[in-house]
Amino acid sequence: MSWKQEQEIDKIKASERWLQEPRFFGDDTELVVFPGSYSIGVANLGYQFLLGRLIHAGKSFDRFFIDTSLPDSISFDTKRPILDFPRWDVTLPFEDNLLQLIKLLQRLNLPLQGSMRQYPIINIGGPMTFINPALISFIANEMYAGEADDDWPEVRETTEWKLSAHFGVNSVVTGPRSVFKNSILIEVARGCMWQCKFCLYRRAYGRIRFVSKERVMETISSAKAKGFDKVGLIAANVSDVPWIGEILQFCEQKNVSVSVSSLAVETLSEEMMHALKGLGVDQLTVAVEHGDEKTRQQLGKPFTDDELVDTLKAAESNGFRSVKLYFINGITDDWSFNACSAASLLNRLCESVNMKIRVSMSVFVPKPGTPMEDALFPAQKDVEEERKFLVSNCPHVEFTFEPYYEARKEFVLGRLLPEDLSLFSSLLKENGERKAIKFFAEKYA
Ligand code: SF4
Repeated sequence: MSWKQEQEIDKIKASERWLQEPRFFGDDTELVVFPGSYSIGVANLGYQFLLGRLIHAGKSFDRFFIDTSLPDSISFDTKRPILDFPRWDVTLPFEDNLLQLIKLLQRLNLPLQGSMRQYPIINIGGPMTFINPALISFIANEMYAGEADDDWPEVRETTEWKLSAHFGVNSVVTGPRSVFKNSILIEVARGCMWQCKFCLYRRAYGRIRFVSKERVMETISSAKAKGFDKVGLIAANVSDVPWIGEILQFCEQKNVSVSVSSLAVETLSEEMMHALKGLGVDQLTVAVEHGDEKTRQQLGKPFTDDELVDTLKAAESNGFRSVKLYFINGITDDWSFNACSAASLLNRLCESVNMKIRVSMSVFVPKPGTPMEDALFPAQKDVEEERKFLVSNCPHVEFTFEPYYEARKEFVLGRLLPEDLSLFSSLLKENGERKAIKFFAEKYA
């Protein structure tokens, strides 16, 4: 570990604040691994759940992140070689986390196949167990499929994807480096009331289940009592929660500022916008996905263009100066139709309100387990044409584009077969990540 990396760990640790006190030393120490950066890992509720459950069970743990500014094989809390830990608990929320885990095992010269590995015991959970259960169970020694429940860590293995009976998770540690800076994250609902055909979340987490307002308020109160004055409310769409108004009012009384994940046009009321603005939210985030109303409805997003315009007008009159909209490129195979309809809707929005319109565009990935799993993964040239058209025809919109390569990576890791893992691993080692991904993207196309 370099001096610079050691300094970096010390700096981050000194800036962290715990809602519940952890224990880092003891014979029973487990390594809780997030195969991704610190800032994202500490903002991930699944990762925080593992830390919270270990604290609750009185167990000691250490943490490990795969982060370019941190050491690549030394633990975060006690700075010990990660191979000193006999048990690793790994959460895999996304495809890239799976790729990072594969690379880590390679780097440490550990067999990728769980049954060939004597040490450490690797317990894996998280949404990737829904997306690619065959590969995860091949790599893991123990796979916890589905939502981890209050039975974890006593129960380490379930092979059937299951929904938790007790949900309502909150984070136990935060700091300025988290993507939700200094916020205690509180789950306010799990699952979703909408049925977007491309969406994995809805398939994996099922119908919406709300966390009781009493439980949410209790968490806010205990966070406030311990000096935290910022909370992040987490749900597929925070506006879908029937008692969200009361929760926001409670935050106001407690003088706690709020950030929220995405909001749904169909359920976002003017009162809620007003409350959010008063609680420090500066920008609303709404998923539009496609510019054509009919296509949007077929995809499972029922709101009309007029409703979107009205929502933005209401946001403007409540003091919001910017809005962030999510779109998906390549979700139909006609790039010109996708581009023209998005440009026309965006230009209509620009004419209707005097707000900064920020658009974040991802690339459609047909996810296994969704009704669109057999749809075509869009060709790079079509996605580029769609994007070029939008940039030249929407001069007042600020675009951010997810790199096409990231989507390609998701496509491959979501479908990678256990029998292909050895070839994938050799290509990764000998030809590099991009060549390995390209090879398998073509193979699975
Ligand atoms: S609203 Fe969001 S989380 Fe719910 S089904 Fe649609 S895309 Fe998925």
